[in-house]
Amino acid sequence: MLKEYVCIMCPRGCEMEAETNGKELISVTGNLCPKGKDYIFQELTAPKRNIATSVLVKGGELPLASVRLTKPIPREDIFRAMEQIRRTEVQAPVFIDQVIIGNLLGTGSNVIATKNVEKMD
Ligand code: SF4
Repeated sequence: MLKEYVCIMCPRGCEMEAETNGKELISVTGNLCPKGKDYIFQELTAPKRNIATSVLVKGGELPLASVRLTKPIPREDIFRAMEQIRRTEVQAPVFIDQVIIGNLLGTGSNVIATKNVEKMD
């Protein structure tokens, strides 16, 4: 079976075509480096996703601070992860790279801030 993928491992975003047999990867074309094949293998066996969202900030000059994960987590954990992030509220000030939630759902990935939010005067 032929299936198309776009590699998300780097900004080049190679458009690839993979021949698979269920969960077995037979061949890959279109990837400019071996990471493309690794990405498709991961998609077939244990797909992972990253999250970029925001958390509530208490007492800040802005009501929200943008956040991301330090590494992708299993796709099946995304909804529980989003729920935990949605319930999280941090106290201003918030600094870029500040860990907002450590070891999210035991995945080894941290939720970190990607924006500074100063304290409200
Ligand atoms: S296959 Fe390699 S070059 Fe292409 S997007 Fe993936 S990591 Fe980047």
